[in-house]
Amino acid sequence: MSTPKLSSKIWNFFTINAEDESKANCDVCNKRLTRGGRNARSYGTSALINHLRSFHHSEYDEYTRSTEPQTKER
Ligand SMILES: [Zn+2]
Repeated sequence: MSTPKLSSKIWNFFTINAEDESKANCDVCNKRLTRGGRNARSYGTSALINHLRSFHHSEYDEYTRSTEPQTKER
């Protein structure tokens, strides 16, 4: 039960930097983003979500659709 779980769908679009876990790379434009403060507890996905929303509209749209409760299939 010690495996870290990346449950957020945001990780479909970003990869955590292997050398520095406070950073994440955007899979779309390869830009390196910071995930928050220095403390692992402050790592969040909001900066990543903001990046998608600002730069990658179609990916952001895909992300928001994947996180919405599936009330309607189509
Ligand atoms: Zn990007």
